[in-house]
Amino acid sequence: GYQGDLGIIELKNLSFKYEEEIILDNIDLVIRPGEIIGIEGRSGSGKTTLLKLLMRFYDSSSGEILIDGHNLKSWQSDSLAKLISYVTQDTYIFNDTIINNIKLGMEASDKEVMEACKKANLHEFIISLKEGYETMIGSLYQSLSGGQLQRLSLARAFLHDSPLILLDEPTSNLDSLNEALVLKTLKDNRDGKTIILVSHRPSSLKICDRIIRIEQGRQS
Ligand code: ATP
Repeated sequence: GYQGDLGIIELKNLSFKYEEEIILDNIDLVIRPGEIIGIEGRSGSGKTTLLKLLMRFYDSSSGEILIDGHNLKSWQSDSLAKLISYVTQDTYIFNDTIINNIKLGMEASDKEVMEACKKANLHEFIISLKEGYETMIGSLYQSLSGGQLQRLSLARAFLHDSPLILLDEPTSNLDSLNEALVLKTLKDNRDGKTIILVSHRPSSLKICDRIIRIEQGRQS
């Protein structure tokens, strides 16, 4: 994983447009190390865009994003990849075994993969399969539920063990039992990590230390 602790994240006068449409309008936000911050707001208000700017999907924003005082635009992309885990509603998978789909090329022992899957509440399901962690995912793809894919994505994030976790509606496909289990695990294993959670579910936002609301591209 990433070496060292993550510092403070500062968004200063952050604005972003697609063509002429203003999506984010002068966001000022300070996120302290180790904080779980919730972002709520209506559909289309700019929540996902904010996460994408933190991952430098777009370089055309104005204003600044500073991490530990360093402008995000000066970070190398391999350092950013180590810094951030991103869990979205859409989980990308490869036609390979379950274990390789969780490792995604990372160096990790079987034990570490299993620990990550236990945290994501996915381990029991995997060992119930005849070939367990060696099951080819292609043969399962049709039969994996949205919730199982989401837990796979969370297992990747737990294994990646990066100091900043961005979660975009990570529980949208989970039933309330799995939602509660996964959120508890996130909270119990936060271990100094900074977590930014986009959600419209009050039950998910409950784990946050602080919640901000984005409305028409502005904090409200
Ligand atoms: P939701 O809760 O529905 O996921 P959101 O708050 O995450 O919404 P964003 O995905 O950030 O909202 O989108 C903000 C606005 O930007 C929306 O009006 C959306 O239509 C627009 N938008 C998003 N991606 C693009 C794109 N690639 N090109 C043009 N407009 C886009």
